[in-house]
Amino acid sequence: RYGVVMLSGTSEIVLINPAARRLLSLASESDLHGRPLAEVVRIPELNQATSAALAGDGTQKLHIEIPSGEVVRPVYARVDRFMAGGEYSLLMGLRDETDAQRVEEMRREFIANISHELKTPLAAIKGYAETVELAIKDDPDAAFHFMQQIHSQCLRLEKLIADMMQLARAQAGISQLKLGPVSLADVIEESLKSYHPVADAKQIQLIVPPCEDLPKVHADAEATLIIASNLIGNAIHYTPQGGVVRVHCRSAGKFVALVVEDNGVGIPKSEQKRIFERFYRVEKSRDTGVGGTGIGLSIVKNLTMTLGGEVRVSSKPGEGAKFEVLLPVSRDALNVR
Ligand code: ADP
Repeated sequence: RYGVVMLSGTSEIVLINPAARRLLSLASESDLHGRPLAEVVRIPELNQATSAALAGDGTQKLHIEIPSGEVVRPVYARVDRFMAGGEYSLLMGLRDETDAQRVEEMRREFIANISHELKTPLAAIKGYAETVELAIKDDPDAAFHFMQQIHSQCLRLEKLIADMMQLARAQAGISQLKLGPVSLADVIEESLKSYHPVADAKQIQLIVPPCEDLPKVHADAEATLIIASNLIGNAIHYTPQGGVVRVHCRSAGKFVALVVEDNGVGIPKSEQKRIFERFYRVEKSRDTGVGGTGIGLSIVKNLTMTLGGEVRVSSKPGEGAKFEVLLPVSRDALNVR
């Protein structure tokens, strides 16, 4: 991956490794030995840097952009002068910055997303608060109504922040998890404790076939509970009153799948990949009540990947959605059961 070029005291190529050829967009088979660098690589900044290093201006460090086919590749270059056999030579190191730039871009985008998501409820709170100030004397009923709006926006802010913290933890990776045998039956039971009242209030029927006979999975109990709760919560949320949500497990080779199915609004095919992105929501207008944050499924995805598992979704819009999380069977499952 790391490109290395050694140049003579007169800037001719002495040695060049395959990574350097690739980064400088040079044909891999051409014989470059003894050719002046400036002749084969037409990147003025790089040639200036080699001249400067040779002239004794110290180590040269620079970021350059090298066209490569359709794309422009960001490359970090470093040129050092050193003495060998009574003569000066140059050593040039080249590093592909594409990945580093992508990470930086994702970080920037994440922060922009967070700011946007936090600004919306905050702006609403500000607007309602100003209205309450005006209305509180002459129209207490209206003031009361706006106070309720403020309260609900505060709840939304609270949920957003809690979700973002959970996501940050989910992204912290394997070192944060306590891995061991986990019973999916226990996890489902625990999760349903909090969702039974929600389902009852919406008159949604929860069907939970027993799954004690399946092996335990190799996972973290807390993380598995978060996964199950997000999927069950979504299933109830995106299923209209009177619908059905089914939660069960099935064996899948070296995995056990946690399956959450509903007969709600479903997800169009074109959106099925994107719903796992942070803050992504299918048409905000579909939301009922206090809107979602678009973070739940990215937490599910992050945790599942960290646990060495896989998430699958299938859905027909209008007929419902089915989410499956496959987690590896516990190593000592055979001893346990
Ligand atoms: P949200 O907080 O919006 O629920 P999620 O990340 O959990 O965020 O989900 C992202 C989007 O995926 C949701 O906004 C919703 O449009 C869609 N979605 C998730 N689960 C379901 C489901 N069971 N049925 C229909 N749509 C769903």
